[in-house]
Amino acid sequence: MAGLRRRMAAMTSSARPLLNRRLAEFGTTIFAEMSALALSTGSINLGQGFPDTDGPEQVREAAVRALRDGRGNQYPPGPGVPELRAAIAEHQKRRYGIELDADREVLVTAGATEAIAASLLALVEPGDEVIAFEPYYDSYAASIAMAGGTRVPVTLRPSVEDGAARFRLDLDELRAAITPRTRLLLINTPHNPTGTVLTRAELTAIAELAVERDLLVVTDEVYEHLTFDGAEHVPLATLPGMRERTVTIGSAGKTFSFTGWKVGWVTSTPELVTAVRSAKQFLTYVSAGPFQYAVAEALALPDSYFADFRADMTAKRDLLAAGLTEAGFEVFRPAGTYFVTTDIRPLDASGDGFAFCRALPERCGVVAIPNAVFYDDRAAGAPFVRFAFCKREDVLAEAVGRLKRL
Ligand SMILES: *Cc1c(COP(=O)(O)O)cnc(C)c1O
Repeated sequence: MAGLRRRMAAMTSSARPLLNRRLAEFGTTIFAEMSALALSTGSINLGQGFPDTDGPEQVREAAVRALRDGRGNQYPPGPGVPELRAAIAEHQKRRYGIELDADREVLVTAGATEAIAASLLALVEPGDEVIAFEPYYDSYAASIAMAGGTRVPVTLRPSVEDGAARFRLDLDELRAAITPRTRLLLINTPHNPTGTVLTRAELTAIAELAVERDLLVVTDEVYEHLTFDGAEHVPLATLPGMRERTVTIGSAGKTFSFTGWKVGWVTSTPELVTAVRSAKQFLTYVSAGPFQYAVAEALALPDSYFADFRADMTAKRDLLAAGLTEAGFEVFRPAGTYFVTTDIRPLDASGDGFAFCRALPERCGVVAIPNAVFYDDRAAGAPFVRFAFCKREDVLAEAVGRLKRL
């Protein structure tokens, strides 16, 4: 005990901080702070994006069967179980016409999070620049940092098109951000947190830039099945010149409402998959054995599952978006994902999303996330606040009722 105490004292008094310089800026995530606030105030948590109902019964049963039958209880194969790799290849073919060799062009990962980290660790040299759209998913900045890369944000900006507010990519800004040190574009569509689904025209322009400047592209498409109002999800890998330079990332978490299973995947060329696997094998090696079999069955669900899921989430989006509008927020109606981004300025002239979110649980018993945490340019993100709608309709209705008290 005394030895331990002495060691702890030495550690905390030393001039050198424990957390290394690459990660020092990341501290603890806003989600921890806001979820703790939700608990201590009894608030409805529309902060973190996880569903409050589990995915299909038959997929859960498939996991139980795999466990009972002893499939996946020991280390599964490094690239993922063959059944799941085949199902991923089949899914990409059936949905998008992408032909994949399930043995060489598919890699199963511990969720999309590991796929992102492994891709960056494998493909980025220290000093390489990685362009990502801000606001960005929170693991991007940390993964770029762990890889020793330099992140170069390109800010999506609100604009009004055909009477509807949407966050837009400025292609000139993207072009201007590319330098001789740029190694990789990290793309996310449908985009968390803004709900923007990049159009075919925007993606074509991105693809042309990537080809012209010979860049690798890592594209996070975990919300591929969550698009609304007929918005089309276009996988970047389907555009000319992209197949050979694109690492596509998918996940079962969002599509099947099993975020705790952490089954994700990478699809790409054999060379890129081999590179990503080189990093992945020393992160987790393998994961989620029995769940891999269950996700293989989930991916083969009939089209009606995906259509019903989308219809259900559309209704939830509509419920929350209408409620937020009535409560006085400016709402960016999302074309995809689980999230609605709002502008708080009609309700709060200070436009300080952080202060707004810290006060919101006390004021009306709802938790949301300030989008500023997803920006390097915090001022650009200050007035925006994100609400998740992947919750039961009664929960959303109650949240909306509370928000109207503002
Ligand atoms: C949820 C999410 C992920 C993480 O997916 P997991 O499979 O749970 O690791 C990655 N990217 C985006 C944009 C997400 O919203």
